[in-house]
Amino acid sequence: MNLHGNVKTFEEEPGFNSGSETTCLEDNVNDLMKRMKSQRYHLIGNHSALKRCRWLYNSLVHNRPCYKEKFYGVKSHRCIQMTPTVFNCTLRCLFCWRIQSGDLTFYWDETDFYKRDDPEEILSGCLKAQMRLLSGYKANPKVAAQKLEEAKSPNQVAISLSGEPTLYPRLGELLKLFHKNGFTTFLVSNGTFPEALSTLGEEPTQLYISSCAPDKKTFNSLCRPLIKNAWLKQMETLDLLQSFRCPTVMRMTLVRNHNLRHPEKYAKLVEKANPTYLEPKAYMHVGFSRLRLGYANTPSYEEVSDFAVSLSNETGFNVLNESKESRVFLLSRLTKPRKL
Ligand code: SF4
Ligand code: SF4
Repeated sequence: MNLHGNVKTFEEEPGFNSGSETTCLEDNVNDLMKRMKSQRYHLIGNHSALKRCRWLYNSLVHNRPCYKEKFYGVKSHRCIQMTPTVFNCTLRCLFCWRIQSGDLTFYWDETDFYKRDDPEEILSGCLKAQMRLLSGYKANPKVAAQKLEEAKSPNQVAISLSGEPTLYPRLGELLKLFHKNGFTTFLVSNGTFPEALSTLGEEPTQLYISSCAPDKKTFNSLCRPLIKNAWLKQMETLDLLQSFRCPTVMRMTLVRNHNLRHPEKYAKLVEKANPTYLEPKAYMHVGFSRLRLGYANTPSYEEVSDFAVSLSNETGFNVLNESKESRVFLLSRLTKPRKL
């Protein structure tokens, strides 16, 4: 694994770095892994990871599934939440829940991705890790035996946990393998690698593009790109979106005092991409984002609701559904979402 170097954010002053010129973390990889394991990441091979989604727990124990079960019909208790790129991303969004280079004492080059595990190895690692985490529910009297049995046959994977999955060059093969094994796939990308998306080979069941800034200035300050021309690349991806046959989603993670404004500018981006759905959603003050943002940056349900209505007025998309608990809305030109 190549974990070394300093943090350099493009669009910042030339020569900007976060304070560690020559830090070589080759020796500290184990510490980083240890920290991730303590946060219940199941590390798979050299660059993948799986983590139990809290909605899998809520679905099994309290019969309360995630909003995607409500919107699209995926089953939370049969869902795997994973990433093939746990250490790598092209952005360092302030609202990101994952550990980033520059957090605590960890520094590495997040854009340097060179280990390439086989898709087969990743799939089998995911299945093993999912079984391991489900074994903990056997003794829980609140979990219905039949539901637990169903959970042991996962059929949905959210490639979304952390990092930018399009940096894994065999992503198309991985998607294909999941599909061959009976999975539906939700792929979440930040859209800064349009070349990879346009040559995927296999489309996901549903493609999410995180579109978290109404303009370049906000994008640079909130998403802190680690590559050149990241905003332009994201715009290129939005242009590409209509070429996908699968349903596409523009997801906006809304952070108070940062990007929760200018619905009319977001509407221009929506016009460009013409996605199937919009999902404006509140930033949640969790994970490592707590090092970068305050609780006051979390918008209320009412703020997200007002934003969703403005977005609907600006785009002509209908508000189809919402989840108060997750502070998220579903908008579309369709009159109802396509269920999986
Ligand atoms: S679809 Fe997303 S939120 Fe729902 S259970 Fe899967 S990982 Fe969790
Ligand atoms: S693009 Fe996603 S994984 Fe990367 S920093 Fe932003 S929120 Fe985190």
